[in-house]
Amino acid sequence: MARLSQADLIDLNRTFEERSPQELLEWTRSIFGDRVAALSSMQKSGNAICHMLSSVPLEMPILFVDTGILFPETLETRDRLMQEYGLKIRTLYPAQTIAEQTTEKGVLYLSPEGQKECCELRKSAPLDAVADEFDALIGSLRRSDGGARGACPILAVDTRLNVLRINPLVNFDDEQLAAYIKENNVITNPLHDQGYTTIGCNRCTTPVLPNEPNRAGRWRHLGPWSVYCGINPTDMDPDRSPAVDLSQDLVDRILGRSTDYMI
Ligand code: SF4
Repeated sequence: MARLSQADLIDLNRTFEERSPQELLEWTRSIFGDRVAALSSMQKSGNAICHMLSSVPLEMPILFVDTGILFPETLETRDRLMQEYGLKIRTLYPAQTIAEQTTEKGVLYLSPEGQKECCELRKSAPLDAVADEFDALIGSLRRSDGGARGACPILAVDTRLNVLRINPLVNFDDEQLAAYIKENNVITNPLHDQGYTTIGCNRCTTPVLPNEPNRAGRWRHLGPWSVYCGINPTDMDPDRSPAVDLSQDLVDRILGRSTDYMI
C-alpha cells in the first residue's frame, strides 16, 4: 500500500481546474475502473452528474442513502433516473428504522448534538458498509454553494472511507448548472419548484424565501445556516491535510506516474 495525501494532489488539482466535468468523469473512470461509484442525494447537482454519466456514457453504480424519512418526491426522482437514464442506483439504508432509533434514543434531530448523531447513523454510517468496494467516490459539491464548500478541491482524500472523492462540478456556478439542466432537460426533484433549494430528510428540510441563502431550509430549527450532515468530509474540516492508503499502482496512476491513460 502507498500513502496519498491531500498535499500530493496539489498539482493535479491545479491542472484539473481547466477540465470540464465530463473530462473529469472520464479520467476518473479510466483510473479507477470498476472501483468507482457516484454518490447522489437526488438534488440538482447530483442529477446533473447522473445525466452526464448516462450521456457520455460511463457505467458505474450510483449510491443513494435512503434515511427512511425522505420526501416521496426524492424517491420518485431516483426511480425516474433508473428508468429513463438506465442508471444502476444502489440504495443504502441505516441499520435501524427511524421508529426503532426514536424508541432507543428519542428524537435526535431537535438538538445540535442529536442532529450530529442522527446524521451519522442515518446518512454517513450506511456508506461505511460499502466503502471497501471502492477506491473513489464521485460527488457533486459546488463552490458556489458557499460556506465550507467555497474552497472545495476537485480531488479530496476521504480518510474515513479511505477513498478519493472527486467533485467534477466544483466550478459549475448556479447559472451554469441551471443552463445544463435546461439544455439537457435533466430530470430534477419536483420539490425544487416548490421553494426547496436543497433537499434532505423531511424532518429537517423546509422551503426557503427568495432573499434567504440556499441552505437556509436545512436544519432551520437549529440555525445558524451552517449545518452539514457530514456525508461529505470536506464540509466538516476542509483545512486538514489527511491521507489515504491505496495500492502503489493506483497511486502511480492517479498521479500520472505511468502513461497508460489519456486525459
Ligand atoms: S437530516 Fe435530520 S432526520 Fe435526517 S439524518 Fe440528519 S438529523 Fe436525522
